[in-house]
Amino acid sequence: MEAQIKLGRIFGIQIGLHYSWLIIAVLIALSLAAHFSMQHPDWGTGVIWGMAVITAVLFFGAIVVHELSHALVALNNDMPVKSITLFALGGVAQIEKESATAKIEFWMAIVGPITSALIGVLFLGLAFMMGWDTSVGPTTPLMAMTVWLGYINIALAVFNMIPGFPMDGGRVLRAAIWWVTEDQRKATRWASFTGQLIAFLFIIFGIIGFFQGMGIGGLWIAFIGWFLLNAARATLVQSEVSTGLEGVTVGDLMNEDCPTIESTENLRTVVHEHMLRTGRRCFVVMERDEPVGIVTPQEITQVEERKWPFTLAVEAMKPISELHVATPGMSAGEALELIGKHNVNQLPVVSGGRLVGIISRDGILRYLVTRKELKM
Ligand SMILES: [Zn+2]
Repeated sequence: MEAQIKLGRIFGIQIGLHYSWLIIAVLIALSLAAHFSMQHPDWGTGVIWGMAVITAVLFFGAIVVHELSHALVALNNDMPVKSITLFALGGVAQIEKESATAKIEFWMAIVGPITSALIGVLFLGLAFMMGWDTSVGPTTPLMAMTVWLGYINIALAVFNMIPGFPMDGGRVLRAAIWWVTEDQRKATRWASFTGQLIAFLFIIFGIIGFFQGMGIGGLWIAFIGWFLLNAARATLVQSEVSTGLEGVTVGDLMNEDCPTIESTENLRTVVHEHMLRTGRRCFVVMERDEPVGIVTPQEITQVEERKWPFTLAVEAMKPISELHVATPGMSAGEALELIGKHNVNQLPVVSGGRLVGIISRDGILRYLVTRKELKM
């Protein structure tokens, strides 16, 4: 998940917000204002709204601390962490590598819920120090905020421990199965299966709840279930891809005989004489026997069709200097990630300043499909 609003860096990790977060932030502030004004209508609108906004900000701060705890365990185990992004359903720390051992995975997963539980206990402790009496309820605005933050963080810890992959509880379960069976793939499959089962239960419970008068709360639970279902499936696919590509490099899968075209050919020729004739979609543009850029359907459609006969390949191409490139030694999984990140279909492979081939999404997928057909 890419953050659209960047807030800054902590421990070198980019902290950001996804747009969907804004909707939920408004909803949380609104429901907090309703909650506080129902408890204490006498506190006045200004105080109520001030409390709602500050509590919401502290709540999101607590989620960032939760994600940071995962990130710090990762960093401590030589796993780079790129970013932490808050979105509609919480936070996500983007960790660049898979855990090397079950033990690391276990600690990295469980530290999040432990952190949230500790934050919750800390807030409730503060409330008690302020004289909070559970039978009377909070008596001051500060106490009301502290109590709410205490309960919500403990709820967060409990919710995160639901054993559905990819939630923290699912990761803990996966690490535990991995630890016992010493089979990472089996552990992933089992954890993903449990995750999907729990997601289905959420959906069924939410829909039944909706028809039995839970109203919007029921739909919300069903929506979370749907989100978890997709996430559990996506994590399974991702992990199958990364095991399928283990030990495979760009050099193994790249296409070395890249079709070339001359920089002076016009786009009409490129399309009709090269692309449509061969079905190939990526051509290296040569100038004085040197590769200078590439042309794909993406570049061609930037130019209106009636201008194709008058536009040279060199004018429409993406110059080599602007391309994201792969190297032959790079792992195929990493290349696939780069392809996805930059939303392209292929990357030129460069070695020692020279273009040596093209690695394409198709090529990598074909390899995975072949492996699967061979039941490897
Ligand atoms: Zn977590």
